[in-house]
Amino acid sequence: MRENETGVARPLGGNGLPAGDLDALILGGGPAGSTAAAILAEKGRRVLVVEREHFPRYKVGESLLPYCYFPLQRIGMIEKLRASSFVKKYSVQFASVSGRVSSPFYFFQHFDHDAAQTWQVVRSEFDRLMLDNALEKGARALMGATAKRLLLEDGRCEGLVVEKDGERFPIRAPVTIDCGGRHGFAGTQMGWIRPDPHLNKVSIWTYYRGAKRDQGYDEGATTVAYLPGKGWFWYIPLPDDVVSVGVVAERGYLHREGKDLEAIWNREIRVNPWIAEHLAPGRRCEPLRVTAEYSYRSRYCAGDGLVLAGDAFTFLDPVFSSGVLLALLSGERCAHAVDAALGAGDVRAARFAEYGEELCRGVEAMRKLVYAFYEETFSFGKLLRSHPDLRGDLTDCLIGNLSHDFRPLFKAVDEFARVPEPLQYGGVPASGEPLRATR
Ligand SMILES: Cc1cc2nc3c(=O)[nH]c(=O)nc-3n(C[C@H](O)[C@H](O)[C@H](O)COP(=O)(O)OP(=O)(O)OC[C@H]3O[C@@H](n4cnc5c(N)ncnc54)[C@H](O)[C@@H]3O)c2cc1C
Repeated sequence: MRENETGVARPLGGNGLPAGDLDALILGGGPAGSTAAAILAEKGRRVLVVEREHFPRYKVGESLLPYCYFPLQRIGMIEKLRASSFVKKYSVQFASVSGRVSSPFYFFQHFDHDAAQTWQVVRSEFDRLMLDNALEKGARALMGATAKRLLLEDGRCEGLVVEKDGERFPIRAPVTIDCGGRHGFAGTQMGWIRPDPHLNKVSIWTYYRGAKRDQGYDEGATTVAYLPGKGWFWYIPLPDDVVSVGVVAERGYLHREGKDLEAIWNREIRVNPWIAEHLAPGRRCEPLRVTAEYSYRSRYCAGDGLVLAGDAFTFLDPVFSSGVLLALLSGERCAHAVDAALGAGDVRAARFAEYGEELCRGVEAMRKLVYAFYEETFSFGKLLRSHPDLRGDLTDCLIGNLSHDFRPLFKAVDEFARVPEPLQYGGVPASGEPLRATR
């Protein structure tokens, strides 16, 4: 494999602009990367997305939250989503272990805004629309190109070493934004990934065609169906009569009779009667997929010449479908921070401290609710029976209004469940601390 500077001057995307003339280099063309690319391109910045796959490509994470509306609106995606065949989502509902389903939380009952209707998306299609949107605004993308490592020089990030078509070459830019998704490209190389100690679940999921769908407004509802021991299923209706369905639970629970995925799946879908009844008329149309080592945050959100966004920065258990929202918000906010840093001619880590703090504040609200969800002593029913006045605050959290003041809500949650202390990660390294790869 060749590793030299020739790739730097190679024309990219057919427009002849050498990569050396970039303002920002974005690793990954998922929702975080496309949002950052769209905003930076709109601001006139020369931006290149380096993406390993050719789109469309498969991705899990289909259920959007109402507050996705605002970053999507800012990058001009709402009309594109309205014109799509994605399923309209108006609510979320919960089915007890015995299969009894709660009254749905209809977002429009709480929130009189177009955002109260969101979507269940097919990620291959959604991510392609998002990346195309960024390209329309002037960003460029190098597809089928894998970032192999950060280009670190004199303790700062100068770009990426990329491999494409068997050739390895560096691409340089004043700022690199890691939007490379779960398990953190930069975070892993720098040894920054910190698991969230109590959110270490396993998930198995797949897709069914012809499974039962509810009617009317409820057709697009996300259903969270409980298992014993606070495991749960998601049930997400998608276009073309397909549903995405997955189970999330402790490893010990899922593996209690062995590790065979098919056996685990076929056993668990019979445990919750709501899931059993809804899947009964359907036929599985995809293989089982599995993931573990769930929630984490990077020790730092940035280094000199480097910023992390989306799952590359932090990943939270998907029980409340917060992943795409956090990817969009972090893509948007880090793009503004990068633009300001470029304008000031100073892309040192300290410029991104506020970005990291703000994002972590939002993540912490969702994280507290996730912790409560997994406590045996907690249920939404109990909370709302004791504090009916907090229904609005709870819905605000469930729809992703992360800048809301949730102190009264979590004071009440604390009566039923342990509310965790904020994780002490996600800031920036002390001034002058050089970036050093640990692997
Ligand atoms: C089981 C499960 C269920 C989930 N359900 C939901 C849900 O219902 N709703 C929700 O909002 N979220 C959900 N999520 C979370 C959601 O999938 C993510 O939060 C979201 O995709 C993050 O977007 P991103 O842009 O940060 O990363 P990604 O969407 O992962 O995009 C990263 C991109 O980087 C590219 N890339 C990676 N490495 C390299 C490399 N070395 N070189 C070049 N390119 C690279 C990848 O190909 C990919 O296209 C779920 C997650 C899991 C695991």
